[in-house]
Amino acid sequence: MGETLFDRAKTRLDEATKYLDVEEETVVRLKAPKSVLQVSIPVRMDDGSLKVFQGYRVRYNDAVGPTKGGIRYHQSVTLDEVKTLAFWMTFKCAAVGLPFGGAKGGVTVNPKELSLLELERLSRGYISAIADSIGPDVDIPAPDVYTNSMIMGWMVDEYSNIKRAYSPAVLTGKPIYAGGSLGRDDATARGGFYCLEALKERLRLGKGTLKVAIQGFGNAGYHFAKIANDAGYRIVAVSDSKGAICKEDGLDPESVYKFKQQNRELKAAYCEGTVCEVVDHKRITNAELLELDVDILVPAALENQITKDNAKNIKAKCIVELANGPTTVEADNILAQRGIPVIPDILANAGGVTVSYFEWVQNKQGYYWKLPKVHKELKEYMEDASVEIFNIAEKHGITLRTAAYVSALRRIDEAVKSKGTERQFHVE
Ligand code: NAD
Repeated sequence: MGETLFDRAKTRLDEATKYLDVEEETVVRLKAPKSVLQVSIPVRMDDGSLKVFQGYRVRYNDAVGPTKGGIRYHQSVTLDEVKTLAFWMTFKCAAVGLPFGGAKGGVTVNPKELSLLELERLSRGYISAIADSIGPDVDIPAPDVYTNSMIMGWMVDEYSNIKRAYSPAVLTGKPIYAGGSLGRDDATARGGFYCLEALKERLRLGKGTLKVAIQGFGNAGYHFAKIANDAGYRIVAVSDSKGAICKEDGLDPESVYKFKQQNRELKAAYCEGTVCEVVDHKRITNAELLELDVDILVPAALENQITKDNAKNIKAKCIVELANGPTTVEADNILAQRGIPVIPDILANAGGVTVSYFEWVQNKQGYYWKLPKVHKELKEYMEDASVEIFNIAEKHGITLRTAAYVSALRRIDEAVKSKGTERQFHVE
């Protein structure tokens, strides 16, 4: 059997162990998931027939705290992918210092082929199938690709029905009136932006207006474009699955978003109220977007976009990974040799899980925060983690990615050691 996504993910762990005196037991534990649950979910379809979908929930490691991770609905979901995403979640939570371990869930389904009622039955069926292995102090799911706050609302309702008790802290990413937190919608992008702001001087990105290209104009990409534009960055290109648009003197993200909402198409536009006018711009491909001469490149779409084939052509001065796993291991090495810093996914996109943590805290306290408090706390978490990781990278002369894994591994190692390892029982 060839090397799997999960095998490749684990090479990051091996690399990090070179820079830390870590317990052997910690590494052994981190080589395999704590538990893997595979379930069949029978769903009554609208035409009366029955379809059975495959679902997964992987709890990777809970040394630091209850496990946390999203649920993905996609036709290409496999156990290998879910395991890998759960591994990344373990390191992401630890890299920013959250008291959570890592997990992930998924259902192999093309959600676009289901009616809304079928989607609700599937979502409730999935929760019913995994209900015994999740819980506010055990494992806390959240949205991921093609799941959203509406689906979380159904799921938390299903779980509360099963337990016969109101249990909002079992899931995060809920609608506000089902116990959600303010600020969750743009948290991933905002967190990535705070990392960039914390590191831009240290990475010597210059003081002038920074030019940004963003691959993917969904939740993460659109919000990043808006937040960065509002802060004075110039967004010169954005893309979706159909292609990219480019405008050297800057796009207006809000107008582009409005136009896309109305026309399901990505075009450079200026909107006044509800009236949008298309303005002069270039159409380019997604491949061309990645190679634009910009200051900041933000992959915010899919895995494996920056590869050994295009890494040598990247002209950006810095990459901010909002997507999970957008850069392959080979591409990472090329970028490191070329001196292009990458703010890695486990740091750059950790804002989402950080505000999920705040949501969980609010649910447990029954006390809900105002938006400025969410932003202030998020900024602090992201800045502290960014500076700590930058300092580790400087100290050892390693990439920010390896440094992020070192930082996370140190916390996981401390948690493992605090529960007792073989070394404590060694008598000299
Ligand atoms: P989304 O579905 O809202 O948006 C994805 C965007 O990518 C869409 O605009 C889509 O058209 C575009 N896209 C799809 N295929 C593409 C292609 N081949 N080239 C260019 N664009 C393409 O998803 P999202 O929530 O924004 O997530 C995007 C990435 O960020 C994923 O890797 C996800 O795992 C990661 N992420 C998201 C969050 C979050 O809170 N939303 C948190 C952590 C990580």
